[in-house]
Amino acid sequence: QTGDSRAALIPRYVRINTTLWTIEEAIQYFISKGFTLENMLEIASTSKHTFAKDKHISALFLFHPELSFQDDDAYKNGKVILQDKASCFPAVVLNPPVSPSGAVIDATSAPGNKTSHLSTLMCNTGTLFAFERDRKRFSTLQAMLSKARCKNVEPVNTDFLLVDPMDPKYSGVTHILLDPSCSGSGIVNRLDYLVESEQEAESVQVERLNKLASFQLMMVKHSMKFPAVQRIVYSTCSVHAIEDEHVVRAALKSDEALSRHFELAPQSQVLPQWKRRGYSNEMDDPHHAASLEASTASTEEKEEENCERRRFCLMVL
Ligand code: SAM
Repeated sequence: QTGDSRAALIPRYVRINTTLWTIEEAIQYFISKGFTLENMLEIASTSKHTFAKDKHISALFLFHPELSFQDDDAYKNGKVILQDKASCFPAVVLNPPVSPSGAVIDATSAPGNKTSHLSTLMCNTGTLFAFERDRKRFSTLQAMLSKARCKNVEPVNTDFLLVDPMDPKYSGVTHILLDPSCSGSGIVNRLDYLVESEQEAESVQVERLNKLASFQLMMVKHSMKFPAVQRIVYSTCSVHAIEDEHVVRAALKSDEALSRHFELAPQSQVLPQWKRRGYSNEMDDPHHAASLEASTASTEEKEEENCERRRFCLMVL
């Protein structure tokens, strides 16, 4: 399928900011706006007047793909965040602590969708250090945090690689979310990518991906240096194994990982109901070429294809 026809199948996802209201209040709000709550199993609602709760991510609603909520009051006042399902997985998989002493890092934060999600999952308690190196994007992050009323976030406009893991400030950090810059090749409605990838010579593309991957690997290894860190979630919106499995594979073999005993978290501990786990052959065989083909066996798998496909969780076990 082409990018636009696949994009047309993807529901309009709306994440409820449970810092500001409850899921039940949100349901009543949408009902008052003329929507009917349905128990849908299909990927997208066939009607523009129905909505459903997502079966994997709590506080995530699905609406018809053609609906837009940019002008909705609930969006304008931060009660809902327009965030795709794929983008909701990292914070859920990280499963941050809910405690006044909890300390978490979001290493690459702007525009702040995952930061605000983490903040909500932490029930606005503890401390969430949110790093962003780009000044303009940092302003966007600040605006998002203020709109979503995230009170436990300490935003810092700096390069995460320059943050000293031994700074006593971060001695209690146990969880790190790492969602670094990537090729964006897994964003199915990014039509510009599809055009670009057709035109780009393979050698140029590989060179670009290799550069991104070495940056991504540096970021994972830096995350591993924080003395109390127990769980690192690495996520990209790329479909290229170079940026995904290969980065994770190299990170697991690094001195940082070996000295701290990092291991890839088993499926049983990371969304066990989610079947897809990227390409295991890409984790094992360094010479195996990446396959970008997606299978289409079942509705469930189709839904998984529509999300970014790789979510890795590295853990100290
Ligand atoms: N997690 C964000 C969200 O869900 O809204 C999206 C993050 S985006 C994929 C990557 C961000 O990381 C960009 O804003 C980029 O400027 C920032 N970034 C890249 N390298 C960085 C670094 N070394 N330190 C801090 N931020 C960095």
